[in-house]
Amino acid sequence: MEYNYVYSIICLASSILVLSLSLLGRVHYKSTSYSKPFSYLMLFSGIYTFGYGFEIIKGDPSWIFFWLRVEYVGISFIAACWLWLSMDFTKKDKYLKLPFFVLIFGVSMFFLISVLTNSLHHLFYSYIKIIDSGYFKLADLGKGPLYIAHSVWLFICFIISSIMYILYYLRSTTILKKQAAIMVIISIEIIISSVFDLSGFAPWGVSVDIGPMIITANGCICAYIIFKAGILNISPIAREKVFESMREGVIVTDLNGVIADFNPAAQYFLPKLSKKWIGERLLNIVPQFEKYTDDYGPLEIEPFVLEDKNEIEYYEIRQVPVMVNTDKRIGTAWYMKQITGQYKLVERLKEYAEIDELTGIFNRRKWTEMAENEMKRANRYKKTFSIMLIDIDYFKRVNDTMGHEIGDKVLANITNTISNVLRSSDIFGRLGGEEFAIIFPETNKEEVSKISERLLEEISNNIMVFEAKKFTVTISAGVSVCENGSNISLEELLRKADEGLYKAKNNGRNRVCFT
Ligand code: GH3
Ligand code: MG
Ligand code: MG
Repeated sequence: MEYNYVYSIICLASSILVLSLSLLGRVHYKSTSYSKPFSYLMLFSGIYTFGYGFEIIKGDPSWIFFWLRVEYVGISFIAACWLWLSMDFTKKDKYLKLPFFVLIFGVSMFFLISVLTNSLHHLFYSYIKIIDSGYFKLADLGKGPLYIAHSVWLFICFIISSIMYILYYLRSTTILKKQAAIMVIISIEIIISSVFDLSGFAPWGVSVDIGPMIITANGCICAYIIFKAGILNISPIAREKVFESMREGVIVTDLNGVIADFNPAAQYFLPKLSKKWIGERLLNIVPQFEKYTDDYGPLEIEPFVLEDKNEIEYYEIRQVPVMVNTDKRIGTAWYMKQITGQYKLVERLKEYAEIDELTGIFNRRKWTEMAENEMKRANRYKKTFSIMLIDIDYFKRVNDTMGHEIGDKVLANITNTISNVLRSSDIFGRLGGEEFAIIFPETNKEEVSKISERLLEEISNNIMVFEAKKFTVTISAGVSVCENGSNISLEELLRKADEGLYKAKNNGRNRVCFT
């Protein structure tokens, strides 16, 4: 059995595979990140594998030396490309400038030239002999000082790459962690196989170079990562870019609420947020978040107020579980969205919907809603309460003599006077025109009589001056009292109060009548 042919065919087939991967990388230069260094890495690996495949075919020294030189066109650049790929992969692309490339390819070129010119100085290989392994003939190479220097260079590149992958693994988010882990494993495996290679480890008792096989296997894994598993492709990058550039602040915590990551926008929301917080419990640092610990947050927007900024700003805070494989929870993402504009708008709209613009008290709709609620409460707890309807006396005259605008001011003035007499628990609304209604919770007839007297007194004593004219107005009111939460409807109570008001008007106005 001619083992050298078998291994040669394997190597040549591998080189075709690896060179195809290089081509694949070349095609995806634009669409897939890192495909450029990957493509170069595969190109040089392919040249090496290809050269080795030919080297072992024949035992002829000049044949072997020729293909050895071809191999070195590949070998010299592999470490540089591996370093380049790792810099790119671990987002250290800011260093990928001309000086970096001049350095790594300059060093690589130096070693390539020193191999090609070895016959002149014998500094790379101190001797070259042909040995017969028993299976096939191989080159036995004496390790010269430049060979040692080249090995040191390889280890420097491989170790720097490994360190970068490990650091990247430690700081990467859950999305990229698995991918980073695979790269860490490959980079360490490369170091281990280089150690074996240098120590002259010979599998199956044959001092055959298994480097081409290792390189092919690694190339396939890297290619799988790039093109199949989507590890290096657009998806995680897009995710990360979105994470980095989104306007919503996001803080990622693990299952114990310990901060694992955050995006730049989060720093805008929490200016004190810094890398130092990573590893700390989020709720220890921002205890206010305790309110928002339900998944997907409160149904109603509960604004989080940030007061250490110049102006009060409102935030919507929600937490969303971070899942893997849709069923395993690994952490939580806290979203912070600035909603100051919307919040103020909603508050204004609420005000428009509830508050009467002219007088600043509840409008009919809100008053009715609150009255219904108060009635329900009173019915449940069997409480007594009273309802009062107020109508201003001869208000048409005010309008006729003073004008509608002054009439408006008078309305606001009277509202103010009434409000000052009421307690904070009393519910005061404008039902329309110059008609008002008040609910007095937990107030019986006797108590409401006293308040009525005070109201009439305050209003008739309230001398208004408009356009140098002094005048007063009076009001009439009807009151209905609901004793011990009897199940009477609001309409019925209002109708009864209206009867009282009618009576008050008929009996000479400026009075309160009970029904
Ligand atoms: P009385 O109630 O004592 O029988 O006499 P009145 O003159 O007050 O009669 P009524 O309550 O029926 O009339 C209400 C008047 O109030 C009609 C309208 O001119 C005036 N009015 C209603 N709404 C407004 C308002 O928003 N602004 C002003 N300026 N006047 C209003
Ligand atoms: Mg009226
Ligand atoms: Mg009136």
